[in-house]
Amino acid sequence: MKVKRAEKYGFCAGVRVADQKVKRFAQLGGSDGRILGQVVHNERVVEEMAELGVATIDQLDEAARGTIIFSAHGVPPSFHEQARQRGLKILDTTCPFVYDVHEEADRAASEGAHLVFIGSPRHREVIGYTRDRDPSTYHVLLTVEEAEAIDWTVYARLKVLYQTTLNAEEYEEVVRYLESQTEVSRADTICYATKENQDAARMLGDDPEVDLILVVGGAQSANTRHLWEICKQDKPSYLIQGPDDLHREWFADARVVGITAGASTPDYVIDEVEQAVGALEENR
Ligand code: SF4
Repeated sequence: MKVKRAEKYGFCAGVRVADQKVKRFAQLGGSDGRILGQVVHNERVVEEMAELGVATIDQLDEAARGTIIFSAHGVPPSFHEQARQRGLKILDTTCPFVYDVHEEADRAASEGAHLVFIGSPRHREVIGYTRDRDPSTYHVLLTVEEAEAIDWTVYARLKVLYQTTLNAEEYEEVVRYLESQTEVSRADTICYATKENQDAARMLGDDPEVDLILVVGGAQSANTRHLWEICKQDKPSYLIQGPDDLHREWFADARVVGITAGASTPDYVIDEVEQAVGALEENR
């Protein structure tokens, strides 16, 4: 059984930098640190951080002292002020691309556009963009049905911004609907890393040699789940968090196993999965 990795997979530049910043903080003795939300959406990374002495918390007020770490997805700008008022130091690992979206949204809003974020209202990145805004100045939506439920003609101009981890092509129908209602300008806020991983996953799905695909990543990671959706269209595909999730029966007739991984999956987890697939082969 041969393993074929996608041409692009795994950690993006933003997550790699965030991971390194937190590890450096821990190595320099920063044990009094708390990460607000997962530094990246991967349970193994959360465990690894906890072992380094940096716990993950869900709310800012759970951090009583020390350093608060903001994850690669970013936070609402007011969190910086709140953290300072609580006497916390800040280690900000927000990805620069996420800051670009904050800036683009601010600029469009100041020019009078109504903001439309294509994304999940529960995703931390989207919460970061929206929580501090007046709710009458924006909408968050994902589907045409959601878009159809709103009267857009009351807005002279819309600015569409995408959650960086989404595939813009999949939301074309939603944006076309908006364009049929009023004037729309789109921000190009899809992260290249996400798109490259998605394109490479599509190539793996199209590869006639590949019999099944393993998508490695956190169950809560939006971009990992998108990769899984793409792969499932062409091949039997399984979303796994690591080697423990493998089932021998998946590989009964497999000759070539494709592997891809979400933007928050560390390299060592992907290596472990490949080794476990090799071990299955030895025991076949
Ligand atoms: S996927 Fe893109 S936007 Fe998100 S953290 Fe990575 S580099 Fe930044």
